[in-house]
Amino acid sequence: MKPLLLLASLAAAALFAQQHHESVGFKDTPMLPGLPWRVHDIDRPHPAVVTPAAAIGQPPWDAIVLFDGKDLSHWEQRGRGADRGKMVAPKWKVTDGYFEAAPGSGDLISREKFGDAQYHVEWCEPESIKGESQDRGNSGFIIMSRYEIQVLDSFNNLTYADGQAGAIYGQWPPLVNPARKQGEWNTYDIVFEAPVFENGALKKPAFVTVFFNGIVVHNRKEIIGRMVYRQVGTYAPHETEEPLLLQDHNHPVRYRNIWVRKLKGYDQPEKR
Ligand code: MG
Repeated sequence: MKPLLLLASLAAAALFAQQHHESVGFKDTPMLPGLPWRVHDIDRPHPAVVTPAAAIGQPPWDAIVLFDGKDLSHWEQRGRGADRGKMVAPKWKVTDGYFEAAPGSGDLISREKFGDAQYHVEWCEPESIKGESQDRGNSGFIIMSRYEIQVLDSFNNLTYADGQAGAIYGQWPPLVNPARKQGEWNTYDIVFEAPVFENGALKKPAFVTVFFNGIVVHNRKEIIGRMVYRQVGTYAPHETEEPLLLQDHNHPVRYRNIWVRKLKGYDQPEKR
């Protein structure tokens, strides 16, 4: 290409880019309250492109898959006996795309840590279930190893309301009870905002939104404190990211399709 022609092409391309840029936003609009951006600001960063999964409930492109049906490589357990004080390979058993709590072996703990996050998990109560109230298919999805969304057989099992499936244990019952019967898979889709601590004191509590089998059962509910039995939970300072924990409550509850997306920074793209 001749130099003059090249220059003309470059100039035309630059003009097109400028006109196109101006056609998709503004710099002469009012400032949004409390934000560094104008209404329709042309320079406001765009959300990341995330490719969704083919089916709802499957992990999207940017998810961290904690269990894909094959192994428990993302998990560990506290050792017992001679292994006391050590973290060891999980004793929970993987079978046919799911895994099952090994009663009495201890909680399953994720190797990775999470703070603000979106979680998906599927769980299933044993078909041949025994016991009643809290002694019936009990486990728990314990976020940051402290804040429990209860897992329990709540299809036909009376217990205290703040301890049934989907409850923020000991604090808030689910808004409704959409539990499926034993042998059928339930889903939790959870958005969790981690608590914030400053100088050893609570600055902002945790909040959680939970969809139970696609039905909202907590709508940005404030968490009172850590999970505790027969007492009011309180907060104690911890890290901004902590492991996810699946509770061993002596019942063979099953889990599959567990994934998580870290949310830190998604609402403040300029800080990512
Ligand atoms: Mg529990």
